[in-house]
Amino acid sequence: MRTRPFHTLHTPFHDLLAARDGFLLTGHENPDGDCLGAQVALFHLLQALGKRVAIVNPDPLGHPFDFLADKAPFSFAKADTPLPQFEVAVLLDCSQLSRTGALAPRLRASGATIAVIDHHIGSEKGDGTVCYVDPKAAATGALVRRLYRDFGVSLPLPAAEGVFLSLVMDTGWFRYSNTDVETLTLAAELVGAGVDASRIYDAIYRRMHPETAAMLATCLTRHELLLGGKLALVPIDKVLNERLAQIAFDTDLVIDPLRSLLGVEVVAILKERFDGTVKVSMRAKGDIDVQRIASTFGGGGHKKAAGAAIPGGMAAAHAALVERARLAFAAVH
Ligand code: AMP
Ligand code: MN
Ligand code: MN
Repeated sequence: MRTRPFHTLHTPFHDLLAARDGFLLTGHENPDGDCLGAQVALFHLLQALGKRVAIVNPDPLGHPFDFLADKAPFSFAKADTPLPQFEVAVLLDCSQLSRTGALAPRLRASGATIAVIDHHIGSEKGDGTVCYVDPKAAATGALVRRLYRDFGVSLPLPAAEGVFLSLVMDTGWFRYSNTDVETLTLAAELVGAGVDASRIYDAIYRRMHPETAAMLATCLTRHELLLGGKLALVPIDKVLNERLAQIAFDTDLVIDPLRSLLGVEVVAILKERFDGTVKVSMRAKGDIDVQRIASTFGGGGHKKAAGAAIPGGMAAAHAALVERARLAFAAVH
């Protein structure tokens, strides 16, 4: 087994992967398909490089993604269980330790090097001391795919499936504006390597809880059209939010029909949590930059998909969001 794999690109990030051993891969709370798919792919790359590697997320695999369990050994951090030994913690699809929830203080206390692989705006300014960041990349998984090339390692099928999952999750199955020649070429290459796109689609979207349709109707009937119809907002109180969580409801189901409405430029879903914070998820159509709106709340993301956690309960979050959106519309119209 080689401990110092050969690589031609000597960036601090590549050198870190080559020189160190004992990697803990993690990501943001409630990890999504990009975060998880990128972890599967990086897990197999590091194994191919002869490294010790474990995946420990802040939360378990969500129901839509449980098919990943046989593609890499996923675990999640339990308060009473020690973390495996590691020298380097790699944050995937986020760049701030605070986004790793209860893991954050444990990663900080570990003294390990914090590395970041991410495609969010401003990620190089996060908590990573060594970063592999490209905000133009459609998905974090696409960045891991580049690392395979840089190290001259070929993609095993589970890793190809992981990268494909990353791509489809963050491009909305190739419908969003980040769908470009690179994403489609990469997708073709992955399908050529044996990825079964329709099986992955069915695993995620064709196994929903029977109550999903009724809950989708409930959420849609609660939508408000504000700011002259440019903002579609769905307030989800903590009781409904708890019910949605129990059935692993995907709020993107609510976003899509609302974003389709003529005149709507931003869809915002406000999810109230029992701790009093409100998680806002925004999706944009047209020229509005929702990452900017999210950043005024300390959140972030991309121009057309961003999120934040707002303290102070639903009424305050609702008012604040409408006001920030009003200012954002005023700035572009
Ligand atoms: P979501 O609405 O949770 O699907 O997130 C949309 C995008 O915004 C994703 O790229 C997230 O990683 C990012 N995002 C969501 N919440 C936050 C946050 N609190 N801070 C920074 N970025 C976020
Ligand atoms: Mn993500
Ligand atoms: Mn992503």
